Amino acid sequence: MQPLDRAVLALSRALGDSVVRTDAAACEAAAHDESEAEWVMPAAVVGARDADDVATVLRVCHDLGVAVFPRGAGTGRVGGATVTAPGLVLDTTAIKSLDELDTRDGLAVVGPGMVTAAFQSAVEAEGMFYPPDPQSAAWCTLGGNLATNAGGPRALKYGVTRDWVLGLEAVLPGGERVSTGRSTRKGVTGYDLPALLVGSEGTLAVITRATLRLTALPTAVVGVWARFGSVAEAGAAVVALSVGGMRPRCVELLDAVCCATLSAQAAGLGLEGAGALLVMECDGHDARAVEAEAERVAEACAAAGAEGVSLARDPVEREALWAARRVMSRALRARARWKLSEDVVVPVTRVPALLEAVRGISAAEGVVMPTYGHAGDGNLHVNLLWDDPAAYPAVQRAIAALFRATLSLGGTLSGEHGIGVLKAPYLPWEQSEGLIALQRRVKAAFDPRGVLNPGKVLGPGTHSAC
Ligand SMILES: Cc1cc2nc3c(=O)[nH]c(=O)nc-3n(C[C@H](O)[C@H](O)[C@H](O)COP(=O)(O)OP(=O)(O)OC[C@H]3O[C@@H](n4cnc5c(N)ncnc54)[C@H](O)[C@@H]3O)c2cc1C
Repeated sequence: MQPLDRAVLALSRALGDSVVRTDAAACEAAAHDESEAEWVMPAAVVGARDADDVATVLRVCHDLGVAVFPRGAGTGRVGGATVTAPGLVLDTTAIKSLDELDTRDGLAVVGPGMVTAAFQSAVEAEGMFYPPDPQSAAWCTLGGNLATNAGGPRALKYGVTRDWVLGLEAVLPGGERVSTGRSTRKGVTGYDLPALLVGSEGTLAVITRATLRLTALPTAVVGVWARFGSVAEAGAAVVALSVGGMRPRCVELLDAVCCATLSAQAAGLGLEGAGALLVMECDGHDARAVEAEAERVAEACAAAGAEGVSLARDPVEREALWAARRVMSRALRARARWKLSEDVVVPVTRVPALLEAVRGISAAEGVVMPTYGHAGDGNLHVNLLWDDPAAYPAVQRAIAALFRATLSLGGTLSGEHGIGVLKAPYLPWEQSEGLIALQRRVKAAFDPRGVLNPGKVLGPGTHSAC
């Protein structure tokens, strides 16, 4: 019997057939994420109920040299959860209890399977705030957010997932359970292992519990929407806001194609024919100060050439726009047979140059490249849409040109989606051979047999098993 079959048999015996699913429907549903990464069918999907189940899976698979693909909700964009080699899926969505919510010390202890929006709602019901807000929050899990170090619009003011993690419990390949970090606001004991595990994309350990930092829920929020005649003017306004020292909690940019897509999602937003839109929000605990900040932001946008600027104080009005914004990715997806979404980042003063590079690449390769995203911190989602399979080589050239342009502008290849499998071939474009070799040694220390998410992030050659 092959090691993979032996692993499935051993796990079925240890955990039961209801936990270890081998039916085609379950296996296919868990084989891929929301990217175009190629996938193979897993031999089984293990729906872990707790850290003990995770430890059992990782012990058996380590011993037999079988590949394991950890998985949350599968909303990732780079094939991080995609099954790329014979092996099995370890699904952590059922480990979702909110074990502690301490409003006095400002922390929560929660399982990785909890859906991000459900966690945010539970926290906000207690007057507290967990700011990381991936636009997939309604579907994705905290485990996936932790593994990818997810960001979102509010990262501009509040930082990304890593900035809100105090401690993590995780299981290593082999089954060893580790408890890293702390519950205190400060702490510098030993290496910062939670920081290493956050963003490690399921290649080092499987996260089974997180202690997350919370803050007080802002009581005042004002939206500012600025419509521009062109994306170049909107890009210049982003720079003006940053250089002018303004710090809204988000500055989101949408180009003309995205404005048209948004209009189709939510009529009445007045976006028909817009060349670009900036969506900004100011927040805080002093309503007058927040209002004054929003007015300064509005004035700066008007001075930068906005055709129209409006303030949105009504939460229902703001939510209508965000609801449309949240489905932007999927709405763009519906415009073409294939879509890839890149998430490059440049220093904020280079946003106009990046937008210009995208325009040039799109024209040169004949690929539609609608662009939107978290422009305030230089992070843009550049999408590539195509219908004809014959266009694929042009898409590949466009991606390569985009990455070259990003790096030449002093940027980085991923702001929040991670490297996964799709961007692994490009990692050497940004990082030196020595740095990648060092990360391989870190990987080997956690996962000597290379069973966890083989081939991800650092590319092929990390999996010695199977
Ligand atoms: C419409 C849409 C909007 C999006 N907007 C944003 C955005 O604004 N910001 C952003 O950052 N991302 C965004 N994303 C990408 C995606 O939602 C995030 O990467 C999210 O964090 C993935 O969570 P998930 O639960 O779906 O994880 P999955 O896709 O299942 O997995 C992602 C990675 O995490 C690993 N993983 C999952 N659970 C664990 C665990 N318990 N232990 C160890 N590793 C684990 C997987 O192996 C994989 O490498 C968006 C995606 C969509 C579809």
